[in-house]
Amino acid sequence: MKIDFANLTKAYQEHKEAIDQAMEDVVSSSRFIMGKEVNELEEALQQYTNATHAITCSSGTDALILAMMALDIKPGDEIITSPFTFIASAETIAFLGAVPVFVDIDKKTYNINVNLIEEKITHKTKAIMPVSLYGQIADMDEINALANKYNLAVIEDAAQSFGATYKGKKSCNLSTIGCTSFFPAKPLGCFGDGGALFTSDEELSNKIKSIRVHGQTQRYIHKYIGIGGRLDTLQAAILVEKLKHYDNDVIRRQNVAKYYNAHLDEESKTPFVNEYNTSVWAQYSIRVKNRDKIQAILKDKGIPTAVHYPKPLHLQECFEYLGHKKGDFVTAEKVSEEIMSLPMNPYLTEQEIQYITKELKELL
Ligand SMILES: *Cc1c(COP(=O)(O)O)cnc(C)c1O
Repeated sequence: MKIDFANLTKAYQEHKEAIDQAMEDVVSSSRFIMGKEVNELEEALQQYTNATHAITCSSGTDALILAMMALDIKPGDEIITSPFTFIASAETIAFLGAVPVFVDIDKKTYNINVNLIEEKITHKTKAIMPVSLYGQIADMDEINALANKYNLAVIEDAAQSFGATYKGKKSCNLSTIGCTSFFPAKPLGCFGDGGALFTSDEELSNKIKSIRVHGQTQRYIHKYIGIGGRLDTLQAAILVEKLKHYDNDVIRRQNVAKYYNAHLDEESKTPFVNEYNTSVWAQYSIRVKNRDKIQAILKDKGIPTAVHYPKPLHLQECFEYLGHKKGDFVTAEKVSEEIMSLPMNPYLTEQEIQYITKELKELL
């Protein structure tokens, strides 16, 4: 058996006709930048998340940059985030000259440990950036309460959690600004780079829209320092089609996770999903000893695996200047040594999962 990890080919083939038509419409209209599909997508995203405003942009990374630019994050400002995430979460903070202040993760969900946040808040803290890792939203009520108490913004890094819910509310609509990614391998992916921001604050929404186009308010009139951060019309057109079927994709991903849970032993089922959360399973990750060996053996059996993420951010060379050392965030360090992602996509069958888990269990 040969298993496909993310199966992007099938995701295209399943809706090939509609997607091809959508792409052809854009190409023949020649409206490659800010064509009508960008607006269509923003309306659909707004409705999907129930956020008041949805603003598309060039990537998940740029969404984070746009969010922090709109919030006037300045050099020296501190932003609290998780050390166990993709580099972009903290890199964008540093890119703006601000300081990523790491807080260790929860042992069960691998999201930021909300009990450890308050002690890291200083007079320089401007925002908290929880990451909704693997498709599960962090503990937003506690985070928002702290933000209210200290007058901070909350930026949800929802790059992996578009479509997930927390106490019945959608990811991206739970904080000052929510940022997501449409990178091809994310749960809702386009055919290149793409992202979006969500907010219920009209002033912020207008500012983000302006900063997205070089800070202009009218053509060649520039109020802010901005970037070229728009989403291509082609990507928007593809996403409009894919979003129509997204709920079904999420259900299928959740079923795949259920099959994995059913076929794995109690201690392997991880991360733990809180009862008030639904995950979109950007990854299905388990913890193993002897990860390198297990990955190699599974690979020979046609089962691809991946590691999200092998090195926590506080130990990355680019953050050496922050002065962290091994032992600073022990949970993040331990999980990064053991974590391994299994194939996850809407098309995996129960038979395939039986095969994957059977081969895996012989190695545990
Ligand atoms: C993918 C990802 C990003 C960046 O998104 P891109 O669209 O690839 O720029 C940011 N944060 C997290 C947690 C991610 O997984």
